[in-house]
Amino acid sequence: MNVSVVLFTSDLRLRDHPALRAAHDGSSALVPLFVRDDAVAAAGFTAPNRMAFLADCLADLDAGLRERGGRLVVRSGDVVAQVCKVVAEAEADEVHMAAGVSAYAQRREERLRKALEAEGCRLHVHDTVITALAPGAVVPAASDHFAVFTPYFGRWSRQHLRDAVAAPRAIRVPDGVGSEKLPARTGLSGVSQALARGGEREARKRLTAWLRGGIAAYEDRHDDLPGDATSRLSPHLHFGTLSPVEVVHRARAAGGPGAEAFVRQLAWREFHHQVLAARPDAATADYRTRHDRWRSPAEAREDIDAWKEGRTGYPVVDAAMRQLRHEGWMHNRGRLLTASFLTKTLYVDWRVGARHFLELLVDGDIADNQLNWQWTAGTGTDSRPNRVLNPVIQARRHDPDGVYVRRWVPELAGLAGAAVHEPWRLRGLERAAYDYPDPIVELPDGLARFRSARGLG
Ligand code: FAD
Repeated sequence: MNVSVVLFTSDLRLRDHPALRAAHDGSSALVPLFVRDDAVAAAGFTAPNRMAFLADCLADLDAGLRERGGRLVVRSGDVVAQVCKVVAEAEADEVHMAAGVSAYAQRREERLRKALEAEGCRLHVHDTVITALAPGAVVPAASDHFAVFTPYFGRWSRQHLRDAVAAPRAIRVPDGVGSEKLPARTGLSGVSQALARGGEREARKRLTAWLRGGIAAYEDRHDDLPGDATSRLSPHLHFGTLSPVEVVHRARAAGGPGAEAFVRQLAWREFHHQVLAARPDAATADYRTRHDRWRSPAEAREDIDAWKEGRTGYPVVDAAMRQLRHEGWMHNRGRLLTASFLTKTLYVDWRVGARHFLELLVDGDIADNQLNWQWTAGTGTDSRPNRVLNPVIQARRHDPDGVYVRRWVPELAGLAGAAVHEPWRLRGLERAAYDYPDPIVELPDGLARFRSARGLG
């Protein structure tokens, strides 16, 4: 009997999963394995919101496997040791898994390959599971990756994407391979009140609803803060409950300017993945250093705390930071303006903000989070690294009637229309009626500090 193991990582689905399909087609029995990796916990990457979402994903994956006659095997510990143990127990000849892009994923793959080879077992690593196009599939003439999005997008758009592959109809798991209990969502503390539900079924429902409804207006409405008119598929793409290949194919089939704009955003995800694959150090080091002299965390402590807690005195910044805490998710426009505020107005190191986002975001992703932070801070791939987003201008543009701010900052609910964006304009008793802080920084000063720190005069 030929036995394979498929190691699930950020690809918690049955449909359009080339590694699962190959493991299934090449063997008479297979072990679907998920390892609760000690190293991921030790790196502090097990934020409660993502652990809760992960528990949903694993429960749903197990249910899908059981419908096909299989089950999910869960183990905890060092991923390499656990895979080798399962290989020995199942007498497996092959292990299949998806290629990852982070430094950790690259090291894990190397360690696994060596350890499995020593046991006479082959490791097959599959591209186009976590991204639609393999990082490195398109490269510019003089580099191993694209550093600018627009030319990348041009090349990416012209590539042929593979067809989606069907989920196996039946799965046979060899006897005698035991599993730990699946982790549960209940009992986790620190989970956001309005956290989305995970799992492939949930993901597919959301994708189908999005393609039928919201996508048509995406081009016009993606920056509409109160309208909440984006797909909210990011946690599903992060955990791989949706295949990016399938999402691109189905969005293209939907057609129209909304779908085109949506596919362009998906390509940003692909872009950041190919940057990180080539430059894994960009998770922590400046991609392009500009020799910023960020304020020290001790010097900026009070400002950082106010930013995290949503009490900076800038209503749109505070609204977005409160949305993050309540939902474990934030609108892209909110992410842009809060990140710009922290790095370019308060002049705090982007790593401080990126860490806080990773503690809360359900879609928190090393490639997308760190590289978007770097883009905003001007140390990344932005071709206009000195751009500063003014929160009042952003608020007037993307929340013109103040609906988003009033939703998340109830202290200001009594202020009508766009007046809610500048409560400091109120005087005397009128101002005193609102229990809301004064701005922690004057905007022109923040800008001046940024400019002088950058040597811009
Ligand atoms: P939609 O607008 O519906 O877009 C569809 C998909 O395209 C998203 O689900 C996402 O996979 C991808 N996408 C969209 N914009 C971007 C982008 N700028 N970069 C990369 N992919 C993108 N996204 C994450 O998935 N994880 C993160 O940890 C993350 N951190 C971010 C931090 C900062 C400071 C900023 C500015 C952006 C960050 N983003 C991150 C990108 C973006 O904000 C989210 O992907 C998006 O808000 C998710 O909502 P949605 O699914 O409704 O997006």
